[in-house]
Amino acid sequence: MAKKYSSKINKIRSFALSLIFIGFIIMYVGIFFQKQPILMTLFMLLGLLAIIGSTVVYFWIGMLSTKAVQVICPNCDKATKVLGRVDMCMHCREPLTLDPELEGKEFDENYNRKRNK
Ligand SMILES: [Zn+2]
Repeated sequence: MAKKYSSKINKIRSFALSLIFIGFIIMYVGIFFQKQPILMTLFMLLGLLAIIGSTVVYFWIGMLSTKAVQVICPNCDKATKVLGRVDMCMHCREPLTLDPELEGKEFDENYNRKRNK
């Protein structure tokens, strides 16, 4: 069983980073439509929108980070942040939980969703 989970904050961060790249690629594609100003403007706007979107996501990460609970990972003794009911250690990917009921159970991101119902 080599299932890989990454820490939620890291996952969102890499999503924001890829959004910036996608934005630049869309804007770059727009350059090829220089003879069609409407299309070029459309691509530029879409690219700009993706970049603005990633800024918003980065801002959101900042908000999430303040909500996350800082704990010392029992496995690697480093400080990490736990978001929601279960999360992963950022350093060693050790599953961590704040809920004693779930202790020892297999890591499942769905536990976070069930509580939200
Ligand atoms: Zn750890």
